[in-house]
Formats: sequence, structure tokens, C-alpha cells
Amino acid sequence: MAKPELVVKKSVVRALCGGGTSLNLSSQRIKDVPKCVSRLTKLSVLLLNNNSISRLPAELLSLRQLAELNLGNNDLEEVPAVLGHLDALKKLYLFSNQITVVPPEVIGGLENLVVLNLNHNHIQRLPPEIKSLTKLQHLSVLDNKLEEVPVEIGHLASLSEINLTSNKLSQLPQQLYQCKELTKLYAARNKLTSLPEGIKTLKKLQVLDVAGNKLTMFPVEFHLLPLKELYCEGNRFIQCEPMLSVQDAEVLSLKELVARFVLQEDRKRFSLIHRMLPHYPSLAALLACGSCCAVCLGPFLTTWLECVHFIRLKKDMKMKTLLTVPVRALLCSYKCFNREGHSYYGVATR
Ligand SMILES: [Zn+2]
Repeated sequence: MAKPELVVKKSVVRALCGGGTSLNLSSQRIKDVPKCVSRLTKLSVLLLNNNSISRLPAELLSLRQLAELNLGNNDLEEVPAVLGHLDALKKLYLFSNQITVVPPEVIGGLENLVVLNLNHNHIQRLPPEIKSLTKLQHLSVLDNKLEEVPVEIGHLASLSEINLTSNKLSQLPQQLYQCKELTKLYAARNKLTSLPEGIKTLKKLQVLDVAGNKLTMFPVEFHLLPLKELYCEGNRFIQCEPMLSVQDAEVLSLKELVARFVLQEDRKRFSLIHRMLPHYPSLAALLACGSCCAVCLGPFLTTWLECVHFIRLKKDMKMKTLLTVPVRALLCSYKCFNREGHSYYGVATR
């Protein structure tokens, strides 16, 4: 078999002579990327996957037109610094390496990235600088050691698919719901105990995979999502079983009572409160945390009864599965809970 360096040099020379825009050096037992690759300044696709590469030469920054770089299945321990200068890069594959660190300055320089694949590494955290990737559509961090997703993820306005499967996440940031283009969210095999409230804002979400977590129920208004596929086996969903209920006497705090009054008045377009509230931004921000009762639709601020209703995915969400899942619902009072004609069940705390 020919020596790897020889094969590589031949390929580079051939590419140089032919003026080619792509170079395939995958599966060539390469340890060091030859510096002569940097002379291929017209290169737009460079495949270096399935080798033993542990670093990249700084000279590669001359590849100003490189749009796709595959470094999958190599020996990288860090995302190479030179990548931060390849600002034409749109697709970057770094799967199956030994990467533990994603340096902020590298990720911050990849503003044109559309696809980022970091699967099968040892990454514990993504830097806040990920917010620079405003054109990113596909982010995959499957099988890593992520303990949290940075709140800056909310800046990724183009994100349509995110894969967080097999990590160590105990929660997802609510800011993820700012990614309005999201159609596929994979978060299976983590340690999620709940999904953040407000999921209804993901108006394009079609696929949700949260199998193998510790979810007890889905967030409020989950059933209004346009989902086509839901994977949720292996969670700790609450069951519907009859129990005696003990109802505490309900004495609302003055703050809650006033908040309910103000929220109610604010709904009336011509009320004094509705017109004055914008002049008190801190009060308006406080009231923005309010919600509305699933039974009487009346507003409340922080005091509610936690209930669930059981959603039949086929009948209620037009999906192709006979599964029934619990979805969270909040009620404003025992008065509403005791009203007839609704299907909300109290959640037992044992
Ligand atoms: Zn109510």
C-alpha cells in the first residue's frame, strides 16, 4: 500500500493542476494535514474525515472560500483555532472526535455556519458566543456531556433542527422557544424532569423526541402544537388514578388579589389601567408572568392549582398514535376545580 503522505500529496497536486474546488482526503490514515493544502485557495469542499488528525495547520486560513469541512472521526481534542477564521464556512462536521472544549473565539467567528455537527464527543458546555451563529439551521450535539444549554441559544433565529439526544441535561432553557423556525427537537435520553412553559410559541414544531427522560407531564397548551411525531416512552408520566382530595382553605394574598384585578382590567381596551400600565414597565414585567385559568379563562399571577388533562394524540392532535399523555393545566381556584363539565384532574402530591 502506498504511504499516506504520498497519496495525499498526489491528490493535492492533482487538485492544484485541475483547479478543482473539492478535495477528498477521507480515510487516508492522515495524522497531519499537509500545509500545501492551503495553496488550494479556490477550495470549497474539503473532506478529511476518517483519519487520525489531532490538529490543523494555521496555514489553512488561506482557504477563504471553504464552505464545507468534514473532520469527523479523527483525534481532535479541541475545535481547532484556525476554523474561527474560515468565515465562508457553512457546513462543519466534527463528529466522533475527543473534543472537550468549544473555544468561544472559534465559534464566534463562524457567522455563516448553517450546519454544525458535534456528535459523539465529550463536550460539557457550549459557550454563550454560540449566539453569533444566526444563520445556523442544524445543530447536532448528540452523545456528549452537556449539562446545560446556554440561554443564548435563543438568538439562533434560523435554527430548524436541534439534536441534544444522550447528554446530561436536567432542563432546557425557555429561550429555546425563541427559535421560531424550530421544526425538530430531539432531547431523548437526558435527565429532563420538565419542559419549560411556553412551548406553544414553537408554531412549526413537527417532531419532538423526549423519550428516556424523567418527565411527569407536558407543559401547558402542549396539545396546541402542530406535532406530527412524538416520542416519549420511558418517562415518569403521572397516571390517572382516583384518590381522595384534601382541599386547603383558599386565602389569596393581597398581591395576588390586586394582580388578578389589574390583569382583568388590562384586558379591557378602554380601561384606565390598560392605558396606564405601559407607563409602569416594572409592573407590566411582573404581570407578564401571569397566566390564565384553564376553566374560567380568568387571569392569575402566581397562585394556581396544578392539574392535568389527558390528551389523546390521535383524536386531539391528529397524530398517528393511540398514546395518551398528561398535559399540564393551571386553574385559578377550587371554585373552578369543583365546577362540573371539565376534564382536569388534580395532581396528587404524596
Ligand atoms: Zn378559574
